[in-house]
Amino acid sequence: MKKDKILVIGACGQIGVELTLALRKMYGDNNVVASDLREEHDLLKGTGPYVSLDVMNKEMLHVLVIRHNITQVYLLAAILSATGEKNPLLAWHINMQSLLNVLDIAKEEGLDKIYWPSSIAVFGPNSPKEDTPQHTIIEPTTIYGISKFAGERWCEYYNHRYGIDVRSLRYPGLISYKSAPGGGTTDYAVEIYHEALEEGSYKCFLSEDTYLPMMYMPDAIRATIELMEADSAKIKVRSAYNLSGMSFSPKEIATAIKQHIPSFSISYEPDYRQQIANGWPQSIDDGLAGADWGWKPEFNLEKMTEDMLKNLKQQKG
Ligand code: NAD
Repeated sequence: MKKDKILVIGACGQIGVELTLALRKMYGDNNVVASDLREEHDLLKGTGPYVSLDVMNKEMLHVLVIRHNITQVYLLAAILSATGEKNPLLAWHINMQSLLNVLDIAKEEGLDKIYWPSSIAVFGPNSPKEDTPQHTIIEPTTIYGISKFAGERWCEYYNHRYGIDVRSLRYPGLISYKSAPGGGTTDYAVEIYHEALEEGSYKCFLSEDTYLPMMYMPDAIRATIELMEADSAKIKVRSAYNLSGMSFSPKEIATAIKQHIPSFSISYEPDYRQQIANGWPQSIDDGLAGADWGWKPEFNLEKMTEDMLKNLKQQKG
């Protein structure tokens, strides 16, 4: 019987660290190879194999896949929404070529499964804002969203044309305390907890009533693993599934924090990220993820806030 051997690319990022640790628990430490451009993240040190890799170097990637007998790849390396707007051509190049390198090696080597995340950024100002459906107008206006939408089409193409078992989720903004966010428009929802504890106040780069779809990292990790563990016949969407956790505004997250830190105060100074947020949905309909592979989120704003503050307090000593 063939044993699963997993390669995580972009393992030192906000999602990568936690996903790598979760996969190591399930598959065994030595069966999950972590890789990134950056130095190994402190939380990964000593937990399993680590390889320095630039995913843009297809030959190196190919050699790594063969050398480690890789059967599944989780591709998390990307340039995120806010950073992407600063250098659109670079974001397009990295986001597309990294995916094409992985998909093509999957085809050549007959890999079992590929995971690549999409984002709610595929939606644009003409998409319905509330309960945005799986299939609707998709006209992204950021280069990040354009690259994610094109990536979804490539995933479906490789599935239909070559039978590659590629799976994907449109993550909402992800909130976590273990590793820092990487330049997205929803990063405020992580920063606010840190500054609430350190400064007692926060200056928000989005306006008070900007509602965005969000998710707590434990839900995102569970969704990813449940999707990847599901029977292939159940995965009917081969572009990327809508995925929903919760939806809130800066004003509401501030109110939730005040339940724990009554003196906390927030001010608003919207910057270029406001325009990105304005083009995105406020909430997502993820009915297909529920129907096809049983997705159900666990965390709401209150439960997440309690857990974030508790863990950050411990971390900061
Ligand atoms: P991140 O920026 O925190 O991490 C990405 C990692 O990829 C970094 O450690 C970076 O060093 C690495 N990387 C960049 N270029 C590389 C290269 N050429 N070769 C190898 N590694 C490289 O991002 P994240 O938040 O962990 O996001 C992971 C994936 O999830 C991305 O595809 C992102 O678009 C998607 N996503 C994230 C969110 C979110 O809120 N975090 C929301 C929607 C979708």
